[in-house]
Amino acid sequence: MNRNEQLFNRAKAIIPGGVNSPVRAFGSVGGIPRFIKKAEGAYVWDENDTRYIDYVGSWGPAIVGHAHPEVIEAVREAALGGLSFGAPTEGEIAIAEEIAKILPSVEQVRLVSSGTEATMSAIRLARGFTGRDKIIKFEGCYHGHSDSLLVKAGSGLLTFGNPSSAGVPADFTKHTLVLEYNNVAQLEETFAQAGSEIACVILEPFVGNMNLVRPSENFIKALRSLTEQHGTVLIYDEVMTGFRVALGGAQSLHGITPDLTTMGKVIGGGMPLAAFGGRKDIMAAISPLGGVYQAGTLSGNPIAVAAGLKTLEIIQRPGFYENLNARTEQLVKGFAQAAQANGIAFSTDFVGGMFGLYFADKRPQNYADMTHTDIEAFKRFFHGMLDRGIAFGPSAYEACFMSAAHTPELIEQTVATAQEVFKEMAA
Ligand SMILES: *Cc1c(COP(=O)(O)O)cnc(C)c1O
Repeated sequence: MNRNEQLFNRAKAIIPGGVNSPVRAFGSVGGIPRFIKKAEGAYVWDENDTRYIDYVGSWGPAIVGHAHPEVIEAVREAALGGLSFGAPTEGEIAIAEEIAKILPSVEQVRLVSSGTEATMSAIRLARGFTGRDKIIKFEGCYHGHSDSLLVKAGSGLLTFGNPSSAGVPADFTKHTLVLEYNNVAQLEETFAQAGSEIACVILEPFVGNMNLVRPSENFIKALRSLTEQHGTVLIYDEVMTGFRVALGGAQSLHGITPDLTTMGKVIGGGMPLAAFGGRKDIMAAISPLGGVYQAGTLSGNPIAVAAGLKTLEIIQRPGFYENLNARTEQLVKGFAQAAQANGIAFSTDFVGGMFGLYFADKRPQNYADMTHTDIEAFKRFFHGMLDRGIAFGPSAYEACFMSAAHTPELIEQTVATAQEVFKEMAA
């Protein structure tokens, strides 16, 4: 038995399912999860000392590469000054100012410790600010695991969502409307019928949690104009896309000014840090200024802030996103050619440092399309690559991530490996 297997058995005895976040258990691809013992640059090493080229990047944060020396140094220095104070610090101001500089829509910011907290708080804020209860989310978008967001579509347009998790009372999701991504007609109809009751619309402005799905221009335009018209708060959940698809996130690519933005992942450079921010008049509704309660013992943690600030500095260096974009393009083009050469039904998409691989002839436009891709083919691809030392997220429903540490040579190597795997799949 190899060490990953031993550790998985040991973990399962003491941690439910052996993991602290479900996707890590390899449930949707089968096999034994790799227990990682270290990471550096584009690589991770498992407990068998097997090295992998990593396209998970801790699910997005590792945009400058794992264990970047400057980030590690910033963390080391911060740690020497104490791990947590539960009091305001100058670093918090610096990172808030930096975020506001990068994202013009964000006039004020509050720091939290996870993306789940950021979206949960932003929604509470939108409800408190508007005095309305109902919210709209889109099927296939993930916004963390707070109760009112663990919801699947109801049977009809204006039926509210049903809990998608045991333990969530139906009463908690009855205010959440679940609509189809990219469906403009449905969005218009919903606003026509219930616009004045809707506190906020939350979306992933490029979806990264049902693989990568991009919004149509019409969809984005309709979202902004309908929310504006009805006094509904538009929340861009950029926990994944922020500082990832472009420096200024999806909103900079869409040319849209959302009312609130949630951030996480890249912003903490691998440490637990997330944030929400936006219009000053809305942010003023938060405690201690306003009546919407929100708090956190470790919010704005000095070590996390130090890692975040250094990461934000590195990604603003000249050419960072041009490079990242070029690497991602090199990879998806190489994959597409390799698949075509082997007659595999396959398509790809990418935005900045985030990409999607789909075992289907056409790119999915929504969740229903995603469910029609060939999941079995993905599993074979996933294991074929992993066995050859290249790691992707262990689910067909996850996007993949490029980092600045992935050199053109590593990408060439990745493409050559994919060519081998596709060939094996075709045989
Ligand atoms: C990862 C993610 C979250 C949740 O963030 P956590 O830090 O895991 O709680 C929320 N929204 C989006 C879009 C995400 O990708």
